[in-house]
Amino acid sequence: MNYKEFSDNVTATAAAKKAVDEFAAIQTDGVHFCPRCGRMSVKDRLCTNALSRHVHVYVCDRCGTDEAIRELCGNDLPLREWAVAKLHPVNT
Ligand SMILES: [Zn+2]
Repeated sequence: MNYKEFSDNVTATAAAKKAVDEFAAIQTDGVHFCPRCGRMSVKDRLCTNALSRHVHVYVCDRCGTDEAIRELCGNDLPLREWAVAKLHPVNT
């Protein structure tokens, strides 16, 4: 990875983190959009869903399980691959 690729990766990761954080700030009961996979799979009561291991935001149960398995394998899904980061790009 050269400097340009590294710099682009840092910028994309920062923008993705900002997008996820902004979503987390408005995530409330009854919002069913999963910020990680993009499916309408988050249950009505947020506290009954999985809390992400990487960002303080609730994700659907399927994503919670996927995060756990990926963590065991050392293959975390980068934040820039999350649905909310792809759908709502934020400039840093
Ligand atoms: Zn999900």
